[in-house]
Amino acid sequence: MASLISNRSEGERVDLLVVGSGIAGLIAALTVAEHGGRVLVVSKGSLSASASYHAQGGIAAAGSEGDSPELHAADTIVAGRGLCRSSAVEVLVEEAPARIDDLRALGVRFSPELGLEGGHSRSRVFHSRGAETGREIELVLARRVRDEERIRVLEGERVLGLWCSGGRCVGVVGESGALASPATLLATGGAGALWSRTTNPEGALGEGIAMAYRAGAAVADLEFVQFHPTALSASGMLLSEALRGAGALLLDANGERFTDELAPRDVVARAIAARGSALLDLRPVDRGRFPALIDRIREAGFDPEIEPVPVAPAAHYTLGGVVTDLDGRSDLPGLYAAGECACTGVHGANRLASNSLLECVVFGRRAGLTAPAEAPLEAELDPPGEPRANGDRIDGELREQMWREAGLVRDAAGLKQLCTAPALVPRLVAESALARRESRGVHFRADFPVEEPELAAHTVVRDGQSPVFERWS
Ligand SMILES: Cc1cc2nc3c(=O)[nH]c(=O)nc-3n(C[C@H](O)[C@H](O)[C@H](O)COP(=O)(O)OP(=O)(O)OC[C@H]3O[C@@H](n4cnc5c(N)ncnc54)[C@H](O)[C@@H]3O)c2cc1C
Repeated sequence: MASLISNRSEGERVDLLVVGSGIAGLIAALTVAEHGGRVLVVSKGSLSASASYHAQGGIAAAGSEGDSPELHAADTIVAGRGLCRSSAVEVLVEEAPARIDDLRALGVRFSPELGLEGGHSRSRVFHSRGAETGREIELVLARRVRDEERIRVLEGERVLGLWCSGGRCVGVVGESGALASPATLLATGGAGALWSRTTNPEGALGEGIAMAYRAGAAVADLEFVQFHPTALSASGMLLSEALRGAGALLLDANGERFTDELAPRDVVARAIAARGSALLDLRPVDRGRFPALIDRIREAGFDPEIEPVPVAPAAHYTLGGVVTDLDGRSDLPGLYAAGECACTGVHGANRLASNSLLECVVFGRRAGLTAPAEAPLEAELDPPGEPRANGDRIDGELREQMWREAGLVRDAAGLKQLCTAPALVPRLVAESALARRESRGVHFRADFPVEEPELAAHTVVRDGQSPVFERWS
């Protein structure tokens, strides 16, 4: 293990080492290369193994007449239930239109009309071919990355831990050896696949969050996990919110509507969970707008033209992660994070639909602009240690337990059981959820069902310490 210090012994100069090839990682890599830097991208899976590739609905930005970054900010803050970090929201919404222009310049093709999704007061969701937005962006970025001689991509390499020396992150330890870099960016995505019902790809296990925590970086807000209301009951396949924006109805077993389809996701998800499952009626929708998605529903054995489709909530988005500033810096020198594995505080206690692809491009780019300024590595580095990730055991039983004890409705008894789980991130989720003795946004405690004003703060955990609440501006 870790005997091969490949890139350093070979004298490869790297300004930024990126772990993960979703949209956050690829944007950061392209940004560094654009400014003359050299990048090594390491990823455990193929491109389609990222959540980015599967993103359907779109990417939010104030782009229509009558809309503005201020209105986008106001909607984001309402969704976030008093917990959004205002400086991060400002950066997100102000930079959004320029980042959409960047994507277009790189070759991303957006449909001309903007979509409307739950919680947005205006139509501001840029999307591609109905529900193919993530795929379109990911493939365009991947092509650019492959064409860029300043970026080397190492696919199929799982990173197991961070390499630290002299109080600083100096690279990573991967399955086939250690890789050194003055700056390391975690872009490893979320942890949704820790829950048995999920829309996420199976590799979304929060590994980046675990390695940052183990190396001493602060992580935060792990109790906030968004459950998407409408995943196909049988498989967890996501049926995008854009469908409800286009007129799809939620019906109970008697064929009656029981909720506002465009209410915030946590409200809709709990309304469905209270009934066990629901039916999504796609007959009122112009289905020709969503050709690929409708094909996938048919492949799953349903004909949405004839009958409503059974749906139920599934774990979808990790709001918490590695604590960063607005340029992706964690509190461990040399370590950066961006995208779903990071916690800038921008989403607060509930993410507004289509703000996460935006987060990837805005904060991925900012990390790419900042990280290459790290000082060069010292000549002598401490040897990379044995990664501690090997102790984690994530199996079907644990994923079921996550669904049961840390699902849409939690309580102290279940969360205490989870505190002894055989894997770090599930334990951190449980500890954070136990500490938050209130219900706020996506975190709902049956034993503390109301919001407590004094808990309008971020739940921060550091290695070996109990969660503390911090206020960020
Ligand atoms: C089905 C679905 C639909 C969605 N729809 C939308 C939408 O319409 N709009 C929106 O804004 N958001 C949407 N989201 C959320 C959004 O897609 C994600 O938040 C975003 O794509 C995360 O991007 P990322 O770059 O941070 O991580 P990801 O795209 O998940 O990429 C993570 C990368 O890290 C790699 N990796 C992970 N661990 C390791 C390791 N240990 N070693 C090496 N590599 C590792 C993975 O292989 C992968 O390449 C959706 C999510 C899903 C699952």
